[in-house]
Amino acid sequence: MTPVIALVGRPNVGKSTLFNRLTRSRDALVADFPGLTRDRKYGNGMLGNKSYTVIDTGGISGDEVGIDAAMAEQSLAAIDEADIVLFLVDARAGLNVADEAIANHLRVNQKKTWLVVNKTDGLEEHSAMAEFWKLGLGDPWPIAAAHGRNVSTLMDTVLEPF
Ligand code: GDP
Ligand code: MG
Repeated sequence: MTPVIALVGRPNVGKSTLFNRLTRSRDALVADFPGLTRDRKYGNGMLGNKSYTVIDTGGISGDEVGIDAAMAEQSLAAIDEADIVLFLVDARAGLNVADEAIANHLRVNQKKTWLVVNKTDGLEEHSAMAEFWKLGLGDPWPIAAAHGRNVSTLMDTVLEPF
């Protein structure tokens, strides 16, 4: 089974940067996926001999406010379609009310969720992680999508059951 991974998070946390990195392999193609829509971008990637599909929820404008911005309809749809959710937050911007709104949704969702703290380049990982524990989604995973820091380690762990 090829797992489907949804990238969710508020605007500007680095979802599309991670999507591009995860789908950069030779085998990356726009996935043939039922219900394909303009607001969600689908790609394929490989890690070792394991393939996966990634969904980038690129359509959040950032103009909405509060929970609407955090949990735009297409993010909810992506979560429904996914086997795994990577919830991205921004180590530089810090914890934000929109992050908390998304976390509240994800905590009651049945999908396997990983809390991914992006933009840790140049930051000390331990202190960068500290405030994100309170989201109640377990261990925060530090990465830097733009530089690839810890991305393959994260993906090894995420894909381990598949
Ligand atoms: P999205 O709105 O969640 O899709 O975020 P984008 O992928 O468009 O990234 C938003 C901004 O964050 C861009 O300027 C990226 O270059 C920057 N960015 C993404 N990943 C990293 C990272 O690992 N480190 C740093 N310093 N900046 C990053
Ligand atoms: Mg984007």
